[in-house]
Parts: sequence; structure tokens; C-alpha cells
Amino acid sequence: MKQNVETLCIHGGYRAGKGEAQQLPIYQTTTFRYNTSDEMARLFDLKDSGYFYTRLANPTNDAVAKKIAALEGGIGGVLTCSGQAANLFAVFNICECGGHVIASNAIYGGTFNLLGTTLKKMGIECTFVDPNWSDEKIEACFKENTKCFFGETISNPGGQVFDIERFAKMAHKHGVPLIMDNTFPTPINCRPFEWGCDIVTHATTKYMDGHGAQVGGAVIDSGNFDWEAHADKFPGLTTPDESYHGLVYTKAFGKMAYLTKMVSQLMRDMGSIPAPENSYLLNLSLESLACRMQKHCENARAVAKWLSNNPKVGWVNYSDLPGDKYHALQQKYLPNGTCGVIAFGLNGSREEAIRFMDNLKFISIVTHVADAKTCVLHPASHTHRQLSDEQLRAAGIAPDLVRLSVGLENVDDIIADLQQAMDKM
Ligand code: PLP
Repeated sequence: MKQNVETLCIHGGYRAGKGEAQQLPIYQTTTFRYNTSDEMARLFDLKDSGYFYTRLANPTNDAVAKKIAALEGGIGGVLTCSGQAANLFAVFNICECGGHVIASNAIYGGTFNLLGTTLKKMGIECTFVDPNWSDEKIEACFKENTKCFFGETISNPGGQVFDIERFAKMAHKHGVPLIMDNTFPTPINCRPFEWGCDIVTHATTKYMDGHGAQVGGAVIDSGNFDWEAHADKFPGLTTPDESYHGLVYTKAFGKMAYLTKMVSQLMRDMGSIPAPENSYLLNLSLESLACRMQKHCENARAVAKWLSNNPKVGWVNYSDLPGDKYHALQQKYLPNGTCGVIAFGLNGSREEAIRFMDNLKFISIVTHVADAKTCVLHPASHTHRQLSDEQLRAAGIAPDLVRLSVGLENVDDIIADLQQAMDKM
């Protein structure tokens, strides 16, 4: 029976059998016992499936990966120890030394560094494109060795909405998958697979957890990209893996090829699994994700409206506001709401923005975002403080940008705190 996201948040991924724990058990174990040497050998040859070592698979982690996959409408998923690891694995699984990636420049700074700096050290080149460029200009960036297109559904911190259908078509025309970081809207507000995206990643650290309790990530596969049709581009999936006795992932695992390779090569060699206890905490939070996202959006809509009518505020980016540059895309892809994150600029200098933040009472100054507690950050002073104003603008971040992550408190109290801090400017 097909279930809606609200139901999947609670029941997806795990169902207790007779006399079993109703809440997902924490399998806090490194390893799993077998009766014969042959039983274990078959697991190592990928001839049987089963648990043998938590770095490769663990029942608690798997149940939560299944829940997130069900929410996204994917065929399966892999949990990682952070959102950074999820984005690294999603790309590195199909793009090795000598490969090339195209990425939107409207993405989280950590991902920008990962793709532009760290992958470069591994021999992978990245071209950043402005999604506002013409098709012609972006298409000119594809090369023979391009392996994927990467974007963020709603960008952190700018709040730009990614035109999923447009970029999925473009990626497919050039024989590569579209990979999208869907952290901010979560599958409650947008399911990129429904618009042609092939692989979705998450920093589960953000709304999925929503209480700042664990750092984690997830990679979910739609199962829709035809690796065999572009076999020459993806030899890692379509030619023998000598570390698995010449096994060919697409032949042996069909639609599960991408995820099986990720576990059997990347997890095997690079680790990066979440602790089962963290996955348990994440699962608890996922149970309330649908209700929380609705409330985050309701509160943020009211705060964005209040900010946009405030004479001390120079500009507001919140795509749910009519008149926002990305409102048409928001109406198409996220008609029920976006998320709780608003970007705005105060009239006045960088120093005024800092004074405003220092005067906030319960709203916290933290690096974190997408949380039950309302929080605030000034990227120019914090996450991006090494950049000049010019470099900030080139990265799409105005020097006066304040990122406000609207939480679940009473919205009148949130506005009152903002008001009293502005009064002291
Ligand atoms: N993707 C997005 C959109 C993020 O906002 C973040 C972190 O803020 C990440 C990825 C990285 O996640 P993590 O901090 O869990 O490594």
C-alpha cells in the first residue's frame, strides 16, 4: 500500500515483528556471528547478503537509510557520518582521478570547498556555473570527461531555488546524472526524483535531525539513471572490479549497482559510517519531520513578511514571498513551503549586522542551521570570514547577509526578539 510522507516518517524502514521492540533497536555492535567459514566467505564475495561488519552494514543504520529512501521515493540509500561525507561519496562513486564535475555555484560553502579544492587534489576538476546563465553557456561547460551535474534544491545560505527539471534534462542530454543536495526542503517539501533528478544527498544533521543532536548524511538513489547506456563514462560500474573477483556492478546488481559499489568500495576503504546510536536519534527525529517542516515554514513565512515590511531591513531572500526572484520556481517545485531559512540584509554596515546579532536574547548565534531553536549567522564574519567583500559577492553572498534559521518557538516571541535587537541598532 502506497503511503504518504507523514506516515513514512513514522513507519518507514522498520516494522516490529511479533514480540519485538516497537522502537527501532540500536545494534551497538561492530560485528555479526556466523556458524561456518563458508557462510562468511559468501558474504565477502557478495554472493549472499547479510550483516558481518558495521562499517559495511548495520541493521539500525539500514532501517533509517530505508526510511529516508522511502521518503524520497528512491530504491535505497546509504547513511554516512556527515553531510560532507554524503556529498563526497555521491560524487566520488562515479568520478575518479581525471574526471570532471559541473556544479551550481549556489551551494553550501563546505560543498564548494569539497568540489573545488579537495577533489582537485584527487585529480577531479570542477567547473562552477551560475544557474542563472543561459542553457547555451552552461552546456558549453560539459566535457568528454564530465561525470555529473551537482546542485542544491534550496541553496545555503542564499535561498536560491534550483530549476531541477531544466538541469536534469541538460545533464541527461550529456549522458550524466543530476545529483542534488536536498537538505533544506527535505522530502517533505520537495522530492527531486519526481522532476528527473537521479541521486539525492542529505546533511541529516539539519532538519532531518532538527534538534542539533547528531551529525550525519545520506545518499539516496532513484535507480533511474541508465549506467549501461553510458558505459564508457562509468567504467567503475560497468567493467570488472578486480577487488571483487572481476564482478561487474551493473551486471550483478542491476538498479542497485551504484549503491552496492558505494558500500563495497567506498565504505569498505574509506569508512565514514554513522554510529548506530546516532541513527537511532535521527530516526526519532524523523518521526516528527513532517509536522516540524510545516511549522518551520509557517513561522518563517510570517518572519519573512515582517522583515520585508521593516524599515531597518534592506532586502529579504525567501522564495515563498511573492516578489522574490525565485518565487516562480518555488511555486513549481515547493508549493507547500520551502524551509525555515531566510537570508536578509540590514540597512547599514557589517558592524550594524554584528551589533544586531549580539543583541539577540534567545535567538542563538551558531554555525548550525535548520534546527528547532531559532538561530542566526553572519557568513561574512563567520563561515566565510577569510573572504573579501568582492570574493563574497562572487560566491553569491552579500557582505551584509544575515542567515536566520527560524525555529519552532512561538512566532510572536521570535519577532519580539528580532524587534528588540533592531531597536538597539
Ligand atoms: N549540505 C548542506 C546544504 C549543508 O547546509 C551542510 C551543512 O551545513 C552540509 C551539506 C554538510 O553537512 P555536515 O555538516 O553534516 O557535514
